[in-house]
Amino acid sequence: MSDQVNLLNFDRPALAAWLQSRGEKPFRAQQLMKWIYQHGIDDFAAMTNIAKPFREELAAVAEIRGPKVVADQESLDGSRKWLLELQDGNRIESVYIPEPGRATLCISSQVGCALNCSFCSTAQQGFNRNLTSAEIVGQLWIANRLLVAAGQPPVSNVVFMGMGEPLLNFDQVMTAIAIMQDDFAYALSKRRVTISTAGVVPALRRLAETTDVSLALSLHAPDDELRTQLVPLNRKYAIAEVLDACRDYVGEGRRRVTIEYVMLDGVNDEDRHARALAKLLQGVPSKVNLIPFNPFPRTRYHRSSAARIERFRDILHRSGIVTITRKTRGDDIDAACGQLAGDFADRTRRRERLIVEVNGDIA
Ligand code: SAH
Repeated sequence: MSDQVNLLNFDRPALAAWLQSRGEKPFRAQQLMKWIYQHGIDDFAAMTNIAKPFREELAAVAEIRGPKVVADQESLDGSRKWLLELQDGNRIESVYIPEPGRATLCISSQVGCALNCSFCSTAQQGFNRNLTSAEIVGQLWIANRLLVAAGQPPVSNVVFMGMGEPLLNFDQVMTAIAIMQDDFAYALSKRRVTISTAGVVPALRRLAETTDVSLALSLHAPDDELRTQLVPLNRKYAIAEVLDACRDYVGEGRRRVTIEYVMLDGVNDEDRHARALAKLLQGVPSKVNLIPFNPFPRTRYHRSSAARIERFRDILHRSGIVTITRKTRGDDIDAACGQLAGDFADRTRRRERLIVEVNGDIA
């Protein structure tokens, strides 16, 4: 570990305070952030509107250090998955999903995950640690540098749907979001940043006081008994309590919570589940995202058939609930929802021909 201060850890107020403590004007935070995030620069010497002696001082005490790219895979559908190595050797994954008019980056908030959802491959590796805000925003920073270098559209939307439970790493996630939304960094509007949670109720309550980004809830079942089997966190925070917190978060306006529902063959995909779900969501400003299950090694689950998913969606539709089926993206490179594992085992080696080793040192 280096002793240098990684500036990616600071949102603007923290950066201004740090600068002030070194006898610099706080407004320099704006200049620095523009170089770091908008120009993707990690070399202080290139920051030409900053006086040379101060640039030299910065280089001596600070650094701009993103995660290191150890593998870069491109799916046949154009999505890209990056395996990123952190300073302590841990590895995480981020996924880039380009669509007409938008480019979404799915990022991780923890190394592994503690929630142990039975249908998620991240759960199988257990929990290692929380990511720092530098490691969270660093995923966006490194992605944009690589995308710009390749002439691909930069990230327009960020979703916390990679590895980990963002609400169990609250402070670091909030700092990273503040940077994403800052006009001197990425200026992403609240609609373009989505937190996806399994429903950590106290943190959901706190979220409402802290931010107004978009919210997605991983519901996956219409009753507590079934949900507890799929999402063990439900034992602690039951459905009614979680939906209450979501309702309060989105408030009375036009905002809606996205309900995520993974379609598991013969488990939660029957007509009666759809009808119960429709009933449950009456009075919750929401839209439903049906996610066809993405398999991974040793899972006991199977994906519902396309016909079953369509039927499920129709039942919700007829009850007046806006429902879309999430298009599976990047499954040929194990980059789809629930397939992120962050290791570098055989799954990835199988696709060796798709792996482009890059060194992350892009000018
Ligand atoms: N912990 C957060 C964010 C990570 S999961 C959460 O629970 O929301 C992001 C989404 O992918 C969640 O809705 C999750 O339930 C879903 N998911 C997990 N495993 C999946 C799988 N194997 N197939 C399809 N979706 C999955």
